[in-house]
Amino acid sequence: MTNPDILIRGARLAADLAERGADHLSAPAVDLRISNGRIVERGSGLGARDGERVVEAGGLVALTGFVDLHTHLREPGFEQSETVLTGTRAAAAGGFTSVFAMANTMPVQDTAGVVEQVQSLGDAAGYATVRPIGAVTEDLGGERLSEIGAMAQSRAAVRVFSDDGGCVHDPLLMRRALEYVKTFDGVIAQHAQDPRLTEGAQMNEGALSSELGLKGWPAVAEESIIARDALLAEHIGARLHICHLSTAGSVEVVRWAKARGVQVTAEVTPHHLILTEELVRSYDARYKVNPPLRREEDVRALRRAVAEGVIDIIATDHAPHPIEAKECEWDVAAFGMVGLESALPIALLTLVREGHASWAELETLLSQKPAEIGRLEGHPKALEVGEPADLALVDPSGWSEFGPARLRGLSANSPYLGMELPGRVVCTVRSGYLTLDDGELVDAGAVAEAARVAREGAR
Ligand SMILES: [Zn+2]
Repeated sequence: MTNPDILIRGARLAADLAERGADHLSAPAVDLRISNGRIVERGSGLGARDGERVVEAGGLVALTGFVDLHTHLREPGFEQSETVLTGTRAAAAGGFTSVFAMANTMPVQDTAGVVEQVQSLGDAAGYATVRPIGAVTEDLGGERLSEIGAMAQSRAAVRVFSDDGGCVHDPLLMRRALEYVKTFDGVIAQHAQDPRLTEGAQMNEGALSSELGLKGWPAVAEESIIARDALLAEHIGARLHICHLSTAGSVEVVRWAKARGVQVTAEVTPHHLILTEELVRSYDARYKVNPPLRREEDVRALRRAVAEGVIDIIATDHAPHPIEAKECEWDVAAFGMVGLESALPIALLTLVREGHASWAELETLLSQKPAEIGRLEGHPKALEVGEPADLALVDPSGWSEFGPARLRGLSANSPYLGMELPGRVVCTVRSGYLTLDDGELVDAGAVAEAARVAREGAR
């Protein structure tokens, strides 16, 4: 048994739009036929066959499915905030076909058993490929290395390790972790934040934090850890990935490390590309995030760093929290924002429309490069015949209000609610079946069944 074939008609391929500022309609219209999880035909004027699902994609841009290297799915342990099912529904709504699930669950993803459990939950739900991230240290405690080798050799074949939420602060542990992952081509994703320099910190350190009387979070707390880890990675010859760059200084440190030939990659979140510390004046805890929102000049530097290739990828840091953790006093509110559903509109607004990235570069930032850093297998290299059918169809025209209905996870802590944003994801195809159809999530039962059929077909 196989899933129904899909014929996508008249899409513009992001890969054909290499020039910044190019109108998407300047690319040729392309038809794609999908069968048994793969692209089987690519051309123009392809005719529909019996039983085939036809998707009219005139005016839409097709990109390989987005890959989020930094998602908090919260399960096991914090199912009131998000579950693997609800988080991957949010992912599908945002055009994502794969997500890397951060390790700060309860129990922590620090053993083969827990990472296999998370991966199985993702397989069963079927909305996206879920690749668990392993904790670097036991219980995220920063004291002893976790079972890195066991997680790498497990069924989940973990390749990305991170203590995200906290920093691997001990330089000896960081060194050992880099040595360990080097043996199987893994990577350490560092949440760069010196804990001593940020004790009790509530927002970016500067004139505004003094004015508001909130404890500041200095840029150097991030930049010093990136510099140290770049030197450690160089010394070991291992791969290092820096989570959520937030300062202009961090960009310069990464630029320096790359010029030295260090195997370092860096991510930026959509929110650090658009929001500034000025929003903290509202004391609205939706704007409380780690690392904190920074200055206007940092936002500009981060956009330029994307344009220059110093920053490699966009990652959401999707961090769901229940309402009671956010609708409270600033100093006790939780850090974090949801981001899977809004990533594409914010990237369009801050990068593509501003001429910092072409559509082809956007595909690299949201799909190709995060897949490469995470050593994600089975991800399409391009929308070409023979490649796996994981893709997103985006309507770049028009603006619409980003309302609560756009959020498909369990939590609603989005900083964009009520904003007018450009573009929307219309369809998401994962492993050859639709997870998002004409802007609506496909029913959970149907997706789980399609995923089961796709797995059988792939055997
Ligand atoms: Zn983090």
